[in-house]
Amino acid sequence: MPELPEMETYRQQLAPLIQGVPITGVEVTRPKSLNVEPEQFAQLLRGNRILQINRRAKHLLFILATGELLVLHLMLGGWMYVGSDEDKPDRTFQVTIHFGAKSLYFIGLRLGYLHVHLPEEAEAIFKKLGPEPLQADFTFERFRQTLQGKRGNLKVTLVDQSVISGIGNCYSDEICFYAQLLPTRKINDLSEEELQRLYQSMRTVLLEAIRYGGYMESPLYAGDRLTGGFDSRCRVYDREGEPCVRCGHPLVFEEVSSRKCFYCANCQA
Ligand SMILES: [Zn+2]
Repeated sequence: MPELPEMETYRQQLAPLIQGVPITGVEVTRPKSLNVEPEQFAQLLRGNRILQINRRAKHLLFILATGELLVLHLMLGGWMYVGSDEDKPDRTFQVTIHFGAKSLYFIGLRLGYLHVHLPEEAEAIFKKLGPEPLQADFTFERFRQTLQGKRGNLKVTLVDQSVISGIGNCYSDEICFYAQLLPTRKINDLSEEELQRLYQSMRTVLLEAIRYGGYMESPLYAGDRLTGGFDSRCRVYDREGEPCVRCGHPLVFEEVSSRKCFYCANCQA
């Protein structure tokens, strides 16, 4: 599932491709991906423009010239492509938005969705989400306050969107590895120094992942050299049995609180 760095990569790369370009048409083959009737959706979008693309946690927000928001969550298996009839992927598109000769294709939206909202609804949609981990005002002090009183282990707490938003299975493992902490450690057992390490690791890993375009396999457009660059830089995620880059010990896969979890049992403590 795309996490904060993948959605941030999409945001940054989509903006110069579609921002401000008039929408010329819409196709919907899976009405369930929307929260309005396909006709209504098409009517709203045709002739409209996306003025700005924002991100909140694992969502993208497309802000229309008429003020409404399109809120996208790709969930498991969803991805996007921008291109033309000639180079579009050989896949089924649940939603397609045409911008003249080029189109934005939504693929694999089985659990994912694209919902229309009024601007005043935005706050309510996101009110259950915890703070953005990379926001400037999310200081170590705020991080410590956020985790205060939490009883869960690191894995469960890092992926809990109501605690800190945007982190999922991959980056929680990468952050724990970078911090040299076991994902099974209890939050309330961490020392001050370990908490500091966890905070710094969270920032370092997420920023590095954004810089290298996240781990998504599929390029966003023909010639996209950025998307997916972090995949080969993942140190533990999906690397069961491979030697740890820090100590050479084979990496372990384990279910932690019924979540996929990869770590090094030798150099994470
Ligand atoms: Zn190791």
